[in-house]
This record gives sequence, C-alpha cells and structure tokens, in this order.
Amino acid sequence: MSSVLISGASIAGPALAFWLSRRGFDVTVVEKSHTLRGGGYPIDIRGTALGVVERMGLLPRLREAHVHTRRITFLDADGSTVASVRPDAIAGGDGSDLEVRRGDLAEMLHDTVRDDVEFLFDNSITTLQEHPGGVDVTFRSGLQRTYDHVIGADGLHSNVRSLVFGAEERFHRYLGYCFAGFTLPNHLGLRQEALMWNEPGRAAALYAVGSGESVHGFLSFGLAEAPFGAFRDPDAQRDLVASVFEGDGWEVPELVKAMNEADDLFFDTVSQIRMPAWSSGRVALVGDAAHAPSFLTGQGSSLALVGAYVLAGHMDDFAEYERVLRPFVLANQDLVDVGNAELFPGTAEALAARNDVLRARETLPAEASRPEHSALTLPDFG
Ligand SMILES: Cc1cc2nc3c(=O)[nH]c(=O)nc-3n(C[C@H](O)[C@H](O)[C@H](O)COP(=O)(O)OP(=O)(O)OC[C@H]3O[C@@H](n4cnc5c(N)ncnc54)[C@H](O)[C@@H]3O)c2cc1C
Repeated sequence: MSSVLISGASIAGPALAFWLSRRGFDVTVVEKSHTLRGGGYPIDIRGTALGVVERMGLLPRLREAHVHTRRITFLDADGSTVASVRPDAIAGGDGSDLEVRRGDLAEMLHDTVRDDVEFLFDNSITTLQEHPGGVDVTFRSGLQRTYDHVIGADGLHSNVRSLVFGAEERFHRYLGYCFAGFTLPNHLGLRQEALMWNEPGRAAALYAVGSGESVHGFLSFGLAEAPFGAFRDPDAQRDLVASVFEGDGWEVPELVKAMNEADDLFFDTVSQIRMPAWSSGRVALVGDAAHAPSFLTGQGSSLALVGAYVLAGHMDDFAEYERVLRPFVLANQDLVDVGNAELFPGTAEALAARNDVLRARETLPAEASRPEHSALTLPDFG
C-alpha cells in the first residue's frame, strides 16, 4: 500500500485524505495546531466545488451548517447607510452557493476520515529528504519516518513549500492590502449580517455569522509595500493598524480597541501564491499552499476542495494533476488584481463609483453565477 504524508488539517488536507484513503492509500496527516480549530470566519463553497462535496456525501450536513447571511450593509465615513445588498450581489451566484464557518467544514472533513487516517496534532515536518525509495521525513517531535509521497496542504505560508520549493517571497503576489481579523462582543446586536464601513483605502467590517454574543471584526487597508517586518511581531501589527485608522469615525475606535485586546488577532497581507509548478519528484502542493487566490476572490476553499479531488485522482502523475487544474485556478486567481479590490476602493472617486454600483445592485435581481466558479468539469476517477 502506498503511503502518503499530508501537512495541514484545514480544508485541502482532510479533503485529500478522504479521497486517498478511499483509493487504498495509507494516509498520515500532520497538523501544527494542537487540535482542530472549529468555528471561525465564513467561507464559500461554490460552482465546481459543490460537485466535490456532493460526491463526498457532505451536502446535507453542509446545507444544515449554511449560515444564511441575510445582507451586507455598506456605510460611509460617518456610519450612514450607502446600500444594503444580498451577499450574491457582491460575489455573483445563483442561490446554490453554500456559506459555512471554515472550522465547521474542517470538522466535517475530519469526521469523514478520522477512523481511517492517522492524525498527528501539535507536530510539524522539520526536514524532507527524497531518494529513489521514498521521502525521509523528520518531525518536530523527533519522530522519523519514510513515505512514498509528501503533500503540502499547509496554507498560504506553507512549510512544505519552503522546504522543497524555496522561500515564499518567490511565489508571493502581494495584492496591495493588509488585514487584521479578531473577534469582539456583538455589542450592536447584529444577526446573520455584515456591516462594512469605508473611507478611501480603508475598510472596517463587523460580520455576525449567527446571532451569537461575538462577531468577527476586520480592519483592512491599502499599503504599497507588504509589511514583512511586522510578521513576527504582534505589537508592530497592532501599532500599524491603529496608526492607519487613527481619527476615523463610526465604530472604528471600538474595533481598534477590540483588536488591541484580542487574544485571537490574525494579521496578514492580502496575497496570492503563483508558482510555475506545484510538484517536485514525490512532493506536491494542494490548496492555498499551491495557489492561494486571496480572500478577495472568495474561492480559496472551493479551489482547495477541487484541487484535493483532482490530485487524489492523479497521484501517479502529478503533471496531469497540474494540467487539469491549472486553467481553473488561474481563471479564479485572475478575478482580482493588484489594488483593484471592490471592497476597498483606494480613492474618493473610486469609492463614490463603487457606491453607485452598490445602490444599483440593491434593486437588481440576483446575478448569475460567475463562469469562473464552474470553469472545470469534474473528471471521473471511478
Ligand atoms: C479572513 C479570511 C476570510 C476568508 N474568506 C474566504 C471566503 O469567503 N471564501 C473562501 O473560499 N475562502 C476564504 N478564505 C480563504 C480560505 O480560508 C482558504 O483559502 C482555505 O481555507 C484554504 O484551505 P487550505 O486547507 O488550503 O489552507 P488553510 O485553511 O490555510 O490551512 C492550512 C493548515 O495547515 C496548517 N499548518 C500550517 N503550517 C503548518 C506546519 N508547519 N505543519 C503542519 N501544519 C501546518 C494550519 O494550521 C492549517 O490548519 C478566507 C481567508 C481568510 C484569512
């Protein structure tokens, strides 16, 4: 039986483990967190990815977990309403999209494989050495093993990518924005809705996934150069965000205060990963590790699910995996470009034009799905 080590237990990792264990592979998943992280911000499953979760038998559970965001209300500098629209008026969609908490999807995927696959939590790969007989792996815990294949499903800042393909900067495409995400008390009593405040180049959002006691807060802003220096320093991240939003109105001071007090602050650049190849010898990448599209596309989880399905069908030929998947990935990555995010217009003119578009969308019927979301017909692997 061929053995496979997968690094990362979020979306791409457990989805790949599902398909590989059903094809008779002996699968181990290593995850650096000490446990699966539940809940969290909502992600979308759309287009071709709906076919994948249907084939996995997950559609009924996902429909139950669907968060049904009722509306997104856009606010101007002083907090007055610009427009209130359905989510599909922003992302496109025919009503079939599913929106679930990232952690809920990760838990469902884990549930489907937990009895068939070995999970090593609170651990990570430290070295990989490929030779004709396999890949020798050492783990942070000191464990040493040899696998036939190693797959990196460890996200935008993939460990396997750095170990095998080189530094992230070579493949990192910075889209010109940074964001801070954290949770805070739902003091406005929001229910299945999002509020999005804008000034040119800055956005503050509150996202109530249900009607619970906490909401997700986001502070996003344009910045010409990626602040790589702030990555290892949470205090520098907080200072940077606080200085960008200093003096702003509406609930922004509350959000900055909550960010400063949060114990779950998540700071990152808005970026893509673009690589000339997703495999090397016995090692391959899947999901955000290979081709993060950025959350501006809303397609990261869908690409991860589809990528896992296609990779599992081509474990004997990684070149074919890339040939089948790459056009679909590129079409979705190209939905956004540097500095052109509709959610964060950079100038007063661009913001006014964006707001006019949103006001028009308040009354328009639902848009059709974006063709890019369904640009791949799922191959059949029997
Ligand atoms: C704020 C925000 C909003 C988003 N909104 C959307 C959206 O609306 N729609 C959408 O589709 N996508 C959205 N995304 C993107 C989406 O979360 C990702 O594209 C998707 O989760 C990709 O899945 P993945 O499994 O490839 O990677 P990830 O979800 O990033 O998972 C990587 C896993 O690898 C683990 N890991 C990392 N390093 C190591 C290591 N050294 N060893 C072992 N394990 C490791 C991590 O702990 C994690 O569990 C959003 C992302 C963010 C941050």
